[in-house]
Amino acid sequence: MTNKIMAEYIWMDGKKPTAKLRSKTKIINGPIQSLADLPLWGFDGSSTEQAEGHFSDCILKPVYYIPDPIRGESNVLVMCEVLNADSAPHKTNTRIKLAELYEKHKQEEPIFGFEQEYTLYHKNWPVGWPPQGFPHPQGRYYCGVGCDEVYGRKLVEAHLKDCLKAGMSISGINAEVMPAQWEFQVGPLNPLECCDQLWLARWILYRHGEDFEMYAKLDPKPMPGDWNGAGGHTNFSTKSMREEGGIKVILEACEKLGKFHNQHIQVYGADNDKRLTGKHETCSIYDFRYGVSDRGASIRIPMETNNKGKGYLEDRRPAANFDPYQISVALIDTICGNGFNPVKYGWPNDVIKMPENKV
Ligand code: ADP
Ligand code: MN
Ligand code: MN
Ligand code: MN
Repeated sequence: MTNKIMAEYIWMDGKKPTAKLRSKTKIINGPIQSLADLPLWGFDGSSTEQAEGHFSDCILKPVYYIPDPIRGESNVLVMCEVLNADSAPHKTNTRIKLAELYEKHKQEEPIFGFEQEYTLYHKNWPVGWPPQGFPHPQGRYYCGVGCDEVYGRKLVEAHLKDCLKAGMSISGINAEVMPAQWEFQVGPLNPLECCDQLWLARWILYRHGEDFEMYAKLDPKPMPGDWNGAGGHTNFSTKSMREEGGIKVILEACEKLGKFHNQHIQVYGADNDKRLTGKHETCSIYDFRYGVSDRGASIRIPMETNNKGKGYLEDRRPAANFDPYQISVALIDTICGNGFNPVKYGWPNDVIKMPENKV
């Protein structure tokens, strides 16, 4: 008797301006011992904004997999790239751009750590908020404990445990400043693995949400007014930043980043202008600043990095709805290469209108 397993094939769709996750289950003969055991598959691209109706087949190419912590046993979750019917990369395939760029700069050993903030909703209102009303103003909720302060912890804990069960590199979680807002961190890892794990961690969060009747919104500013937005802080370092004298390399990187700010903003998440206001621990989208320990800067150099004279930098600009593949391309291209231009990758440069768009 063959051992049938369930492989959940997961991919990014063509939704604009922000891709969503899609997935479907393939039954295959297990066990899965390497990527080669996972066959190519297909889907109807006309239902995911990835093809026209009359020529709608797209290919799913498995590129990364982990044990499926929800189904357990030898079932797997599979991250896929999308290819056209002729096997060329689909235009929504941002991962392949990162794979190519990473190959070019591998010797610099770039590593990432993502902080994913999100807001838990039930129906159309944040979990735990009075129906169509507002909770006590912010101040008591960040890293809070107790049912008067944090909402949705059951889901948050189930998500964390399952990410660890799947062997993912989660480095922590915390309740955020706005009630019903949370964060988990992925990394530090190499660029592809960090991004793949972030997408899979998002999938696990949504999937668990079904059972808890909650959903995680990645909206950068879910509640207008005096409520914190949700970001996707991106921590980055290269080998030379992590070695003795690395602080000099980090400062040079900050200078370079400032020169491509407008270009970066184009891939840092839709509606990020509603979040980067200069309030609520952000720097205005129209400014670029870096500083040690400065949570009101675009780029923060962590205190520990400054004290040790080596380490990493934190890009605080990405919004919670960021595509990690695109952010990683932007950072590697700017810091290790000659600069970043979204157009070069076939990505739009009008996601957010900047005053003098240098793109
Ligand atoms: P904070 O909330 O203070 O900004 P977090 O603890 O939430 O910081 O996140 C720090 C992130 O930095 C983690 O995701 C971790 O993986 C990442 N990180 C740690 N060291 C490095 C490094 N050398 N290079 C890149 N990322 C790193
Ligand atoms: Mn954090
Ligand atoms: Mn945070
Ligand atoms: Mn942070």
